[in-house]
Amino acid sequence: WKHVKQVDPEIYEVLVNELKRQEYGLELIASENFASLAVIETMGSMLTNKYAEGYPQKRYYGGCEWVDRAEELAIERAKRLFGAKFANVQPHSGSQANMAVYLALAQPGDTIMGMSLSHGGHLTHGAPVNFSGKIFKVVPYGVNLETETIDYDEVRRLALEHKPKIIVAGGSAYARIIDFKRFREIADEVGAYLMVDMAHFAGLVAAGIHPNPLEYAHVVTSTTHKTLRGPRGGLILTNDPDIAKAVDKTIFPGIQGGPLMHVIAAKAVCFKEAMTEEFKEYQKQVVKNAKKMAEEFQKRGYRIVSGGTDTHLFLVDLTPKDITGKAAEKALESCGITVNKNTIPNEKRSPFVASGIRIGTPAVTTRGMKEEEMEEIAEMIDLVLSNVTDENGTVKPEVREEVSKRVRELCERFPLYRDKIEGVEI
Ligand code: PLP
Repeated sequence: WKHVKQVDPEIYEVLVNELKRQEYGLELIASENFASLAVIETMGSMLTNKYAEGYPQKRYYGGCEWVDRAEELAIERAKRLFGAKFANVQPHSGSQANMAVYLALAQPGDTIMGMSLSHGGHLTHGAPVNFSGKIFKVVPYGVNLETETIDYDEVRRLALEHKPKIIVAGGSAYARIIDFKRFREIADEVGAYLMVDMAHFAGLVAAGIHPNPLEYAHVVTSTTHKTLRGPRGGLILTNDPDIAKAVDKTIFPGIQGGPLMHVIAAKAVCFKEAMTEEFKEYQKQVVKNAKKMAEEFQKRGYRIVSGGTDTHLFLVDLTPKDITGKAAEKALESCGITVNKNTIPNEKRSPFVASGIRIGTPAVTTRGMKEEEMEEIAEMIDLVLSNVTDENGTVKPEVREEVSKRVRELCERFPLYRDKIEGVEI
C-alpha cells in the first residue's frame, strides 16, 4: 500500500484501521466473510481500467481479449460449480442480480411474492422502500409463528389467490433449509416462475452440503461475497435458454453499463477456490460451528428462533434476557464483537431497536476457529449481555475490559491477513 500511503494518507489511515478492525475483532455478521488474498489481489488489479460492455466475443469496445478470457473462465467455473447450463457473472451486486431477474421475467405492475423483511426476507424481495416494492405489486409471505419456519400452506394459499408472476424463495435471516421442491410445486400450480435467491447459503451449495436450488428453480440468484467467500458481487444461474437470454439482455444493456472486469476475474478465482476439498471442509465446519454456538446460547438461557439452525447463521431472541437487539449490538461492538440487531418473527419492536441479533459463523470459521472457540465466543457474548447497564448498550467497564482483552487474544491465536501481507504494520 505504499502508493496510497504517499498519495492519500487519509485513505491509507482508513485502510490500515479497517484491516486492524478485521484482524483483531470477532466478525459474526452472517453476510460477511474474509476473501482470500488471491481474490483481493485480482480485485485490486488493472482490470478495473477496462470497459467491456457486452459479453465475451460480443463487446462494444476493442481490447477485450484478456477480459474476455477472465469472463469466460468465470462463466465456465460458475456453471461447473453449481451444475448450471447458463451463468451471468456480471451483476454488480446481489440486488442487481435480483432486479435483472424481475425485469427479465415480469413487467412493472405485475405481482411478485417474497418473504417479508421482518420474517427474514431481503429488501429486494419486495420491501416497500426498495425498487422491488415500488415497481411490482408485492404479496409477502412469512413464517408460521409456532414453528418459525416457512408456512408452505400459506405460501400456496397466497399464490392461488394472487397469481404472482414470480415467487421468490430465500432470505437474509432464515436459518433453515428451504423446501425448494415444495416451492416449485406451488409455482407450477399457479404458472409462476420460481426464483431462488441463494445469496446467503451459496457457499454451502457449492460445497455440496446443502440442496442445490437449481434442481427446482427456474432461475437462481446469488451474491459472491457471503458464504461463497469471493469478491463483492452478484451472479445469476439458470438451465433455461430463454430465461438466460432474457437475463443477459436485462443485465446489459437493460440495467448496467460496463461490467466490473476486476470483480468478474475475482469471481473466477473464487469459483476455483470453491471447487477445492479444502473449501468443502471449510463449509462443513461453518455449519458445525453455527450449530455448536446456537446450542451454547440455548444452554445459557437464550431462545434460538426456530429452535436451531441447518446453515451458517441463526437468530437469537433476546427477549428472555430483557435486552434489545440495538443495545446488544452496541454492547458487543464496544468489546470488539460485531453482530447485527435483527427483528424476530412476531416482532414487537421497531426494526431500529429489534428483539434479536443475527449471528453467522462464515468469517470466524475462515480464520480456522472450531467448536471449542464457538463455546468461548458464546460465553463471552453472554458475559457482555449480562452486564449491560442501560438501553444504549453500555457495558460495565471491568467486563468490557476483560472481554476486549479476550477477544484480542483469541484473534491473535487465529491470524487472518497479518502474516501474509508485506509492508503494512498492524
Ligand atoms: N439477497 C439476499 C438474500 C441478501 O441477503 C442480500 C444482501 O445481504 C442481497 C440479496 C443483496 O446483495 P447486495 O448487498 O450485494 O446488493
